[in-house]
Amino acid sequence: MIDPAADLPFFYGSISRAEAEEHLKLAGMMDGLFLLRQCLRSLGGYVLSLVWQLDFHHYAVEKQLNGTYCISGGKPHCGPAELCQYYSQDADGLVCMLRKPCLRSPETPIRTGVFDSLRENMLREYVRQTWHLEGNAMEQAIISQAPQLEKLIATTAHEKMPWYHGKITRTESERRLYSGAQPDGKFLVRERDESGTFALSVIYGKTAYHYQILLDKSGKYSMPEGTKFDTVWQLVEYLKLKPDGLVTILREACLNPNSTMGRVCTLFLLPTLSSTASSCLCIPLGTSKLDDSSSTNRHTMPMDTSVYESPYSDPEALKEKKLFLKRDQLMIDEVELGSGNFGCVKRGVYKMRKKQIDVAIKVLKSENEKGVKDEMMKEAEIMHQLDNPYIVRMIGLCQAENLMLVMEMAPAGPLNKYLSAKKEQITVENVVELMHQVSLGMVYLEENNFVHRDLAARNVLLVNQHYAKISDFGLSKALGANDNYYKARTAGKWPLKWYAPECINFHKFSSKSDVWSFGVTMWEAFSYGGKPYKKMKGPEVISFIESGNRMDCPPGCPDVMYALMKDCWTYQHENRPGFVKVEEQMRNYYYSISKKTSSEAANAAAEPEK
Ligand code: ADP
Ligand code: MG
Repeated sequence: MIDPAADLPFFYGSISRAEAEEHLKLAGMMDGLFLLRQCLRSLGGYVLSLVWQLDFHHYAVEKQLNGTYCISGGKPHCGPAELCQYYSQDADGLVCMLRKPCLRSPETPIRTGVFDSLRENMLREYVRQTWHLEGNAMEQAIISQAPQLEKLIATTAHEKMPWYHGKITRTESERRLYSGAQPDGKFLVRERDESGTFALSVIYGKTAYHYQILLDKSGKYSMPEGTKFDTVWQLVEYLKLKPDGLVTILREACLNPNSTMGRVCTLFLLPTLSSTASSCLCIPLGTSKLDDSSSTNRHTMPMDTSVYESPYSDPEALKEKKLFLKRDQLMIDEVELGSGNFGCVKRGVYKMRKKQIDVAIKVLKSENEKGVKDEMMKEAEIMHQLDNPYIVRMIGLCQAENLMLVMEMAPAGPLNKYLSAKKEQITVENVVELMHQVSLGMVYLEENNFVHRDLAARNVLLVNQHYAKISDFGLSKALGANDNYYKARTAGKWPLKWYAPECINFHKFSSKSDVWSFGVTMWEAFSYGGKPYKKMKGPEVISFIESGNRMDCPPGCPDVMYALMKDCWTYQHENRPGFVKVEEQMRNYYYSISKKTSSEAANAAAEPEK
């Protein structure tokens, strides 16, 4: 990833405060002279260095998880350029406005820093090594779980470092530091007894010094009186550059003898790390899937389940993939998961070469009705072409006592029922997380030119409380390469309350009309399985909408989410957002509230120190 400030002629990259002041001095020290540099403390953040009355002022610019930038207490801006532009018109709390950029000379290239693209590379590497995902599956995992992953990495990354010794006593730490050579700066980090906080032990002049690592209320780590960091490993990296109150800077890691990793983590030894350096990353993470959840009590992520990737993503299994499955490899339970006019859905197990998987089987009632059979074949034909973590996959068809459509199992069932049954336990953030996943699945359909035509909370199935998949492709259509809508010749048994005006008036179905349905689905979700438009009948709903009315905000639903619903209910489909936009908005909001809750959690965890 390229630094968003890379194009700014007054951006210097990773230079120190002293170097920044040197540049400003050379440029003349006039009032309002400024430059921008990278911040070592917060990932993705900057420092704005400004001259006023022959003095230097340095302002930290923090990058929020929702992607905006702000100076503490100031307004958020969408990028560093916009932020600087803003402060060049309005001092808004700074000592003065930004008047004259201190331009970088051609001999001074942007200095790359240790943390450049570290965060993103770390996320990638973490997902790659923990869940063995690549490509699209990895990207989708990161987008849908970024807040959880960042939290997980922030709280556990140090555990993977060779200098981390876990819970050992002060005496034991000294024993380890004194064994072998004792150069100045040899160090280790350990967990302090009961408190869950950390200590840093370092050798200087053949003597061990111990420092407590403080954790403040906002979840930041620091040395007493020192610079604050998001994570322990960043603090350690910083202390390798600056003593920040310690007797010495940190140099050589005292290696944990019990570390299963063995390999030295080369990541942080690199002086610079380019954006293409992900192959240099070496974060030994172990291979056990449960390994990581055990150290934190995090909830399961979609990638932890067996239905995140297709069972056919294994090349061996793919070789044997056929549209029609063998009946003797399919075991059908009598338990009914649901029913419809086509027949019923039963649970079962399908035996593959290497594993057995839980499946849901749509069993056709009577094959005499040719129409119903054709419909199921069409549904299968659509599903056959889809492969996305947020869409129920078809395993295959089976023609035996009945025609059967075999799908991945989503054991927690339809979203509307789940939410109305568990109102008390499910937070709004959880609803946002699930609806964001639905939007990801819909982006996939939109990109691949499919229209769903029956998106509704009843057709969003849950694998578990934190994992949703879109299902029921009974009405779906694949659009022609040059079409962006499907025109139905006649109206059928349609879910009118979920349909956009152009569907009803002109029988035109597009991804934009799916967006309208997404809005109604959001409304259902945020009202915890409520019935849209209450007792109104289809035709009443149509005139309600035509006269410009829309459903009210469900109680407790965040304003931002209601605003998005109303956007989805834009009358003219040309002016309605597409799923790319919808997903972006869901994502931004989701990340922004997850950040809040994670710092609240850190608040609760921070204990006063002895
Ligand atoms: P219909 O076209 O009748 O709406 P659906 O495909 O929506 O058919 O399935 C009907 C019901 O069967 C769902 O509401 C759900 O309870 C159950 N069901 C369908 N597919 C699955 C699945 N993959 N996993 C678990 N339950 C399922
Ligand atoms: Mg259905």
